[in-house]
Amino acid sequence: MHSMKDRTLILESLEKVGEEVILQGWVDTKRDHGKLTFIDLRDRSGSIQCVGFQMMGELTTESVIEISGLVKARPERMVNPDLPLGTVEIEVKAYEVLNKAKELPIPVAGDGREINEESRLQYRYLDLRRPRMNKILRMRSEFIRALRDSLFEQDFVEVETPMLTKSTKEGARDFIVPSRFQEGKFYALPQSPQQYKQLLMTAGVEKYFQVARCIRDEDLRADRGFEFTQLDLEMSFVTQQDVMSTVEAMTKKAVKAVGGTLKDETFPVFTYEEAIKQYGADKFDLRTEEEKKAGVLSFAWVVSFPFFKKVDTADAAEVADGKSGWTFTHNPFSTPIEAHVEQHLKGENIENIETAQYDLVCNGHEAGGGSIRAHRADVLRSTFKIMGYSDEEIQDGVGHMLEAFEVGTPPHGGIALGIDRLVMLLAGETSLKEAIAFPMTSSGRTAVMDGPSEVSEAQLSELHIQVVKKKKK
Ligand code: ASP
Repeated sequence: MHSMKDRTLILESLEKVGEEVILQGWVDTKRDHGKLTFIDLRDRSGSIQCVGFQMMGELTTESVIEISGLVKARPERMVNPDLPLGTVEIEVKAYEVLNKAKELPIPVAGDGREINEESRLQYRYLDLRRPRMNKILRMRSEFIRALRDSLFEQDFVEVETPMLTKSTKEGARDFIVPSRFQEGKFYALPQSPQQYKQLLMTAGVEKYFQVARCIRDEDLRADRGFEFTQLDLEMSFVTQQDVMSTVEAMTKKAVKAVGGTLKDETFPVFTYEEAIKQYGADKFDLRTEEEKKAGVLSFAWVVSFPFFKKVDTADAAEVADGKSGWTFTHNPFSTPIEAHVEQHLKGENIENIETAQYDLVCNGHEAGGGSIRAHRADVLRSTFKIMGYSDEEIQDGVGHMLEAFEVGTPPHGGIALGIDRLVMLLAGETSLKEAIAFPMTSSGRTAVMDGPSEVSEAQLSELHIQVVKKKKK
């Protein structure tokens, strides 16, 4: 095999008519015509027809090969105007098989929608070869780059926060990780970087962001996995309007950078009450039928949410959090609006307390949510008091935050945008799985690697864990 330096990308061969080139890639298709064998060779830049005389007959599709050949302009009548490289072809001089492919378990041509999900995810590395999926993967990368660029331009600092941490109280069940060194103790995987990003404000970072993985042990639905990626950010010395403007500008820029079309240049703002009255929900779709067909993105803000709601007794995480029968609607670390701080501190008129929360809605989906936070210890303490926590429980759960709030934490607020969902919408897809490289199956099995799996007795014993199988009733 030749070095990277000697390789010509298929797309570049357009400029090299009359020259000999080295191409590397996959056999996309093969057609035998007597002594001539035609293959389409594919690499990341495109595909090109390669013609071999008395050779290549044994090649199987999807094998990886290297070709040395002459780039030739196709005769007028052989030009294929439908293909980007339809004006040229390669006269193959020699080739080497770098990896022979056997018959594939799933086809990689076509859009793959007819293949069942289990097979697509079991062979995801093949599924991602199809142009539709490859395009989404690249678009996701471009989208994240555009978000990053926009934030760097505004002086944001990218900071990584820990994956092994303690319960973060974002309203879902934690995934827990046993500690080998401390018998009977567990880490929790982060439901979001919420607390650490607030602590970065205490640390004086002022403008933080992270492309963060969040892990929540929620009941699986067709369109929800255990982990997702969010663009997480936090800013100090800002009002609700400041955060919303920053996020709106960044989102618009990134959507346009990947060729997306927006319905509104200025995102309309609805209060929660208006949204419920007009649409019956706090997520709604403002697009016309034509706009839906054209793949337009329609963003809107929803503001003025109630801080608390009655616990839904069917939701285990809510029951655990809302000991008093009240739990938070969005985020326990939010602040009540200024006018409601007094009643919040007194725990009065709980159902009327409004939080400085803002949600970003896109095409009927929740695309993101954030808030101005409590930055005073008494306010955060009061939130947990309203939810029925004792002083001891508060200390145990968020004592570290209360402490930080007493050593100069500036007023701050932030947001998190769901990257998977935005990419799904930008790609015009209806399943989140299409926006993720290696998503879980709907039954919670990991792509390709088939987790969760059993572990050895030795591993369990090292972790001080005994598995007790529930007796079948
Ligand atoms: N931490 C919140 C979430 O993950 C988002 C935020 O308020 O910044 O939903």
